[in-house]
Amino acid sequence: MDMGIAGKWALVCAASKGLGKACAAALVGEGVNVVITARGEAALQAAAAELRALNPAVQVLAVAGDITTPAGRAAALAACPQVDILVNNAGGPPPGDFRDWDREAWIKALDANMLTPIELIKATVDAMAERGYGRIVNITSGAVKAPIDVLGLSNGARSGLTGFVAGLARQSRLASRNVTLNNLLPGPFDTDRLKVTLAGAAAKSGQTVESVAEARKQQLPARRFGNAEEFGAYCAFLCSAHAGFVTGQNLLMDGGGYPGTF
Ligand code: NAP
Repeated sequence: MDMGIAGKWALVCAASKGLGKACAAALVGEGVNVVITARGEAALQAAAAELRALNPAVQVLAVAGDITTPAGRAAALAACPQVDILVNNAGGPPPGDFRDWDREAWIKALDANMLTPIELIKATVDAMAERGYGRIVNITSGAVKAPIDVLGLSNGARSGLTGFVAGLARQSRLASRNVTLNNLLPGPFDTDRLKVTLAGAAAKSGQTVESVAEARKQQLPARRFGNAEEFGAYCAFLCSAHAGFVTGQNLLMDGGGYPGTF
């Protein structure tokens, strides 16, 4: 299927690795020019080189910086000639017990996983509406739908973003101008982030990482973790010309892990 987005520009945040990088790769494959960001320069430049090799016909710009800071966001936005597609992403907050989190921990989580996406949406969405095309995909988490006890910071901050996006997506000044906002909710995907989580669980339980990973897979109907390419492909579809009637949705990708009907 031709996604109908060749020649457009996308800003894909936190995209030197994992899910963000896979979204950028899928968009590049569709002929979309991308600006990718991450804090670590070396991995970011390596990712940019990989993306250029995927499709030499598109422009791939890499902007190193922390997307959760005003300076990081300003640099990313300045590099993108126009943002037709925005993929919001950043690292997830650490696990723990809410009794140990102070105000600063909460502000950090809110900044990364709620306020940064909102700032970037604010900076781009009206120009999208003026041009009559806009796709915003927020990478959130399956924890929004089925909270994970130790990830209280993530459950809380991402739910705040989810509530905000639910309202904004339904503004007719956006929806009637072909601007959509959706959230993609990953379950367990085989990325560096998951490896860190599994290593933490293994250390805590005294088991090997392999046995913890295997047990986790067995809890999923799919009996496997997701791979980032699958996630990128779904993201590219949501950003495509064909997805203009899909807005304000929370789309779970979790191999059937969530047990509810809706
Ligand atoms: P990952 O493999 O660890 O990749 C994270 C990427 O984000 C890296 O490129 C990292 O580069 C970049 N990044 C992190 N913080 C950043 C910041 N402040 N500014 C700019 N770039 C930043 O993680 P992932 O698995 O793709 O996860 C992506 C998001 O999905 C996270 O929020 C995660 O919590 C969420 N999620 C993942 C899973 C899963 O199973 N993988 C499940 C649920 C939710 P630098 O470190 O160099 O900045």
